[in-house]
Amino acid sequence: MPGRVLAGPPSVKIVLIDFHTHSNASDGALSPEALLERAAERGVALLAITDHDLVSGYQRAASKPQGSVRLVPGVELSCVWSGATIHVVGLGIDCEHPAMHRGVARMAAAREERADKIARRLEKRGYAGALAGARAVAGESQLGRPHFARWMVDQGHVKDLNEAFDRFLGQGKPGDVKAFWPELDEVVAWILGSGGVPVLAHPLKYRFTNTKLKRLVQAFTAAGGGAIEVTSGRQTPDQVRHLQRLADEFDLEISIGSDFHRDAPYAADVGVDLSPFAGRRGVWQRWLGDN
Ligand code: MN
Ligand code: MN
Ligand code: MN
Repeated sequence: MPGRVLAGPPSVKIVLIDFHTHSNASDGALSPEALLERAAERGVALLAITDHDLVSGYQRAASKPQGSVRLVPGVELSCVWSGATIHVVGLGIDCEHPAMHRGVARMAAAREERADKIARRLEKRGYAGALAGARAVAGESQLGRPHFARWMVDQGHVKDLNEAFDRFLGQGKPGDVKAFWPELDEVVAWILGSGGVPVLAHPLKYRFTNTKLKRLVQAFTAAGGGAIEVTSGRQTPDQVRHLQRLADEFDLEISIGSDFHRDAPYAADVGVDLSPFAGRRGVWQRWLGDN
C-alpha cells in the first residue's frame, strides 16, 4: 500500500515522527527491517520500535543501516494498576542495562507461564499438542493467543480464527489466561533505571472514567512517569485536547505515535505530523535537535 503523500507549501517542512510502532518481533506484521524501510519511505525523521515486552525487534533494526531515519530505542511494557492492564512505553532506554535486561526476562517468563497454562487448558479439553503447535506457528515471534488460534484452525479443530476466539481463547473462555504482569511502578522503575523516559501509552484505551484516568496519571507521575501519549493512532481533536490538558495538569511531557501494527482500514500509517504539537513540551525534543 503506497504511503500517504503529505503535500504542503514548499516553505513548510513537514516533520513526521513516531514513538509507538510494532514489528513482527511482537504482534506487528512487518519485520523490523521492513518497518524501518516503511518509515524511511514515508519520510519519518524519528522512529521508535516499541514492541510488547521485548527489545529484539528494535535491536535487529538498530544493527542495520538506518538511512534517513533516526531510530530511538523503545519498548512497550505491560503492567497492572488497580486491577487493570496498563501499557507503558519506554523511550531512549539502554537495552543492555541490567534493569531493562532483568525486566524483559521477567516479562518473557510471564508470557511463557501464560502460554503453558493456555496449552494445558486446551489439552485438558482434548486438543493435544497445543503448546508445540502454537510455538511452531509463532516461529521467532512472541508466543500468544493468536498463535494458538491459528494452530486450532490449521488442525481443523475450528473453522476459523473467530471461532477459535469465540469458543476457546476470547474473554472469559478457557484460554483467557491473564499473565502475571508487574505493577505500574515496577516497569516505570525499569525504564528510569535504564536511562529512558516512561510514557503512559494510549490513556483513553483503558476506557476509564475521567476520575479514574486522573488517578492513573497521578500514580504514573508519582512513580516517576515523564510523558503521556496525546495521539496513538486515530484520535479526534477533542480527545487530543483532553490528553494535552491532562499532560499540562500533571506537568508531563507529551509523546506522539501511531501504534502501527499493520496496514488496515482505519488504522494509522507509520509517522505522525509533528506540526500541530510544535511548541509543546515533547519527548522528541531530546532527539530532534533544533528542527
Ligand atoms: Mn499489540
Ligand atoms: Mn498498547
Ligand atoms: Mn502498542
